[in-house]
Amino acid sequence: MEKEENKLMENIVSLCKRRGFIYPGSEVYGGLAGTFDYGPLGVALKNNIKNLWWKKFVDGRDDMYGVDAAILMNSSVWKASGHVDTFTEALVECSKCHKRFREDHLKEKGKCDDCGGATGDAKKFNGMFKTQIGAMDDSSATIYLRPETAQGMFVNFKNIVDSFHPKLPFGMAQIGKAFRNEITPRDFIFRVREFEQMEIEYFIKSEGWEKYFEYFRDEMLEWMESMGIDMNKVHELEVLSEDLAHYSKRTIDFEFDFPFGRKELYGLAYRTDYDLNSHKLDYQDEETSSRIVPHVIEPSFGVDRTVLAILLSSYKEDTSGDEVRPYLDFKTSVAPVICAVSPLLKNKPELRDYARVVYRNLKDEFGRVMWDDNGNIGKRYRRQDEIGTPWCIVIDFDTLTDDSVTIRNRDTGKQERIKKEDIISYIKEKMD
Ligand code: ATP
Repeated sequence: MEKEENKLMENIVSLCKRRGFIYPGSEVYGGLAGTFDYGPLGVALKNNIKNLWWKKFVDGRDDMYGVDAAILMNSSVWKASGHVDTFTEALVECSKCHKRFREDHLKEKGKCDDCGGATGDAKKFNGMFKTQIGAMDDSSATIYLRPETAQGMFVNFKNIVDSFHPKLPFGMAQIGKAFRNEITPRDFIFRVREFEQMEIEYFIKSEGWEKYFEYFRDEMLEWMESMGIDMNKVHELEVLSEDLAHYSKRTIDFEFDFPFGRKELYGLAYRTDYDLNSHKLDYQDEETSSRIVPHVIEPSFGVDRTVLAILLSSYKEDTSGDEVRPYLDFKTSVAPVICAVSPLLKNKPELRDYARVVYRNLKDEFGRVMWDDNGNIGKRYRRQDEIGTPWCIVIDFDTLTDDSVTIRNRDTGKQERIKKEDIISYIKEKMD
């Protein structure tokens, strides 16, 4: 079973590189651990995820305010939030091979995962990247790359209240990069040093926080399902009170059965009034005419872990004869390419010209449309299957006389003949 799971991970990593989804970062210089570069299809997949998230959690509601805060912030933010003092991990080093690990990630406490050597005493290690701002190299100019997007919202709480006068409950939402100096980045894009988060800070009165917590738990489950994430592999972990972060009164981790184990995909936390208190921010409550400190429910989503969970949920293989056909059964809403258009033969101008017109029309309608005339038709189908394109449209000699095209379904491999003018409605009807 473990072998099979490793194979699945290998297949995904190699497909991502070969087909232009995700490349190792700085590869031509030997790489940089914990960084990855998204290629054209990876960006498209990620943008679809982020746009759908924004649509559901911001545009689709009237109580959510979007922000895009600066990554560089005054270091006082991180002092007040507790990150300077507490965003630490216990680091251990093997006395034999000198490899370093996060103590809580060791398979066996006190024993090196790699060589079995004894690990020494743990040292505290702050996970924030430090950098210098300005030309002066003195310590007063030390700042941090943000390790979460959340604080960028808290420090803008007053701005949003002053500009929009929202009534409680209301939320702030942000999508953006976060950086963590992970001791052992690993498992492809699962644990990286530079990643993206999609986070919501939902401000409420403390009474009845349970209701909002339950509400966002349902919203998160609904979101995962809409992404095509395999819900049989999603599990909720109620974080035990002794393991809760210092600011949290209740946290649920949504875990996913990754090939390398059951690990956190997303988190949902009740952060109480910790953050606004830390930044000395409050709110004028119209009902009671008094100043109160709102409490916070925080649904937190990692973009890269979403990408990985979708890839793992979508990867399928079927066999015809000796041939294995790998394909990604993406939902149309997340697929980097909705349909590909091909002339049956590359070197026939009459097929090519016709196909260009069809391609243009579809491109104007859907945007995510690919022109593909490389290799023979079988190769094109295989390539499109591997990148998860739901439909391939082929223009052949019959098209020239009857204006019909072949449309092939990725999951079944079945082909249908439809009229050129019906392509858009055909696809729209079947989009998921
Ligand atoms: P872990 O326990 O796996 O280190 P965490 O509990 O520290 O994760 P949070 O601080 O809750 O994670 O961050 C919110 C979300 O950001 C996570 O649910 C995950 O999706 C994403 N995330 C956190 N760290 C990383 C990372 N190093 N690489 C990729 N995504 C990450």
